[in-house]
Amino acid sequence: MYPKKLMAMLAVIFLTALSLSAQEKRYVMVLHGGAGTILKQNMTPEREEAYTGAMKEALLAGYKLIKEGKSSLDAVEAAIWVLEDNPLFNASKGAVFTHDGRNELDASIMYGKTLEAGAVAGVTTIKHPISGARAVMEKSEHVMMVGAGAELFAKEVGLEIVDPSYFYTQPRYDALQRAIKQDSIKAVLDHDAKQSNRVPFQNRDDKFGTVGCVALDQEGHLAAGTSTGGMTNKKYGRVGDSPIIGAGTYCDDRTVGVSCTGWGEFFIRSVVAKSVSDLMEYKGLGVEEASRLMIEKIGQLGGDGGLVALDRNGQIAMPFNTAGMYRAAITEDGEVEVAIYK
Ligand code: ASP
Repeated sequence: MYPKKLMAMLAVIFLTALSLSAQEKRYVMVLHGGAGTILKQNMTPEREEAYTGAMKEALLAGYKLIKEGKSSLDAVEAAIWVLEDNPLFNASKGAVFTHDGRNELDASIMYGKTLEAGAVAGVTTIKHPISGARAVMEKSEHVMMVGAGAELFAKEVGLEIVDPSYFYTQPRYDALQRAIKQDSIKAVLDHDAKQSNRVPFQNRDDKFGTVGCVALDQEGHLAAGTSTGGMTNKKYGRVGDSPIIGAGTYCDDRTVGVSCTGWGEFFIRSVVAKSVSDLMEYKGLGVEEASRLMIEKIGQLGGDGGLVALDRNGQIAMPFNTAGMYRAAITEDGEVEVAIYK
C-alpha cells in the first residue's frame, strides 16, 4: 500500500474514533452561576475554590436525584436551591439590589415533557424563588405571577417565606453604592441624557451570579430553571429575562433545555432560549451551533451574557461572550466538569 493512502486511512480511523468517543459522553445536567467580567487576575484561589465547590455541590445534589430515578424537575430545583442558598450567587441570599435598595427576585422553570412552565417576578419574601416558580406551574392555572400576589400564593401553598432582610448581603449592598456613584458621574459627563439612559446598568461587573440549570432524567425528560436577583441598580419593578419563558428559560423534550444569563433586556428582545430550540427544531441545527448563533446575535445588538443548554441526547453547549461564565456539567457516569474563564 502507498504510504499516502495508509496515512489517509489512519487519519479516517483516528477521526472516527474521536467522534465516537465525543458522542459517547452523555451529560445529564448542566448549570451556570452567571456570566460577566470574571477575570482570573481578580480572583483569589480561595474564591475560585468557593465558586467551583458550590457548583459541584449543586450538580451533585441534582445528580443524586437523577440517579435515584427522580424527575429532571426535582433535579433542577434541588441544584438551584444550593445556589440560591449560597451568597456568592445573585439569587435569593446574595441577590443584587435595586436602585432603591431592595432585593426583587425573579425565577422560572419549565418541563420539557409537557411544556408546562411557571415563573415568579419581583418577589421579595419567597426564600426559594425557583420553588415559587414551580408552585405556579404545578399548583395554579397560570404561568407567571408577580409581586405581592405571587408572595401570597407561595405562602398559601406552604413555601418558606422570609423577611426581605434575609436577602441582604454587605458585598451586594456595597456594589449598589458603587453603581449609584458611577451612574451619577456618568450623568454629569454625558451631555445626551437620553443616551445615558440607554445604559441603565453601570458597573456591570458587580451584577453577575444569576443561576440556572438544565437536567435530563432517566425517562428522557428535560427540565430547565433560572433564578436571579436581576441586575444591580435596576429600577423598581424592572423584570429581566430570567422569569420570562422563551427568553431566559425554555425547555422542550423534542429539542433542548436552555437557561440564560446576562444583560436581560437583550435576551428578552431576542427571545434567546426559545430561539435556540427553534433553530434546532426548524433548521435542524445542533445544540452547539444553535446556542452559539444566539449568543452572537446578543453580541451584535450590543448585549452580553451566555447560556447553558442540554439537548435530548445529552449533548451540551455553554457559549458566552463575556470574559467568563461560572459553569459546570456532569455526565451520566458522574464525571464533573467545571469552568469559569474563556
Ligand atoms: N439575566 C439577568 C437579568 O437581566 C441577570 C443576569 O443573568 O446576570 O435580570
